Amino acid sequence: MGKDKVIAIDGPSGSGKSTVAKELAKALGLLYIDTGAMFRSLAFMADKLNIKMEQGQEMNDFLSNIKMRYGVSPDCLIEIDGENLSQKIREHNVSKLASIISQIPEVRTYLLNFQRNLAKEVFCVMEGRDIGTVVFPNAFCKLFITASVDTRAKRRLNQLQESGDTNVTLEQVIGDVQKRDDSDINREVAPLKQAEDATYLDTTELTLPEIIKQLSQYVNEKAKEAGLQL
Ligand code: C5P
Repeated sequence: MGKDKVIAIDGPSGSGKSTVAKELAKALGLLYIDTGAMFRSLAFMADKLNIKMEQGQEMNDFLSNIKMRYGVSPDCLIEIDGENLSQKIREHNVSKLASIISQIPEVRTYLLNFQRNLAKEVFCVMEGRDIGTVVFPNAFCKLFITASVDTRAKRRLNQLQESGDTNVTLEQVIGDVQKRDDSDINREVAPLKQAEDATYLDTTELTLPEIIKQLSQYVNEKAKEAGLQL
């Protein structure tokens, strides 16, 4: 069986994988797909509609009735029922809700189908927690990206401050990063883990241009090996 035309990038929050995935997609001219934004959007909308964040009929009805669209326009990464959520999902409390909703098996199944459909015909860079292990186990190229907890928390704090959230301290973010790691790694369905055939990359000491240069070469080699034309 041929390999899927997906560069699967997994790793914990703040590992730099979003930046790497975005830049790599740009460098290679491929579609970038941020699956965290999907979990965040479902969490945001469920919260707005007062849906209980647990398995059950209410959650199932919510999932059956919404219409999620990804990559709608340059200004709209993601929308649900016509509402552009691209900015709203970056707030600190949405990270926590996303981590909670991501444990619900029906939510994961919903997004698994959504993600597979999205990547059906196009070459893409898809980033998340379970892309190389569950969503696209047959991806031609898999990367597992991480960095130290301190580095990840500092990056996350910068992002929050850039988006105008100045009420959070580094200690709080370190605590949150550790909590989210813990629940991502230990959840029953599709936990965060490195796929056996994924290449491990620690970005603590590396600069972005270095990473993109190395990875572009690596991806080209993997594509050749798999007989795929980038
Ligand atoms: O990557 P990001 O921080 O935006 O993801 C938000 C949350 O969504 C994560 O904390 C994680 O719990 C969940 N997630 C997931 N599986 C993915 C992507 C994100 O469980 N593929």
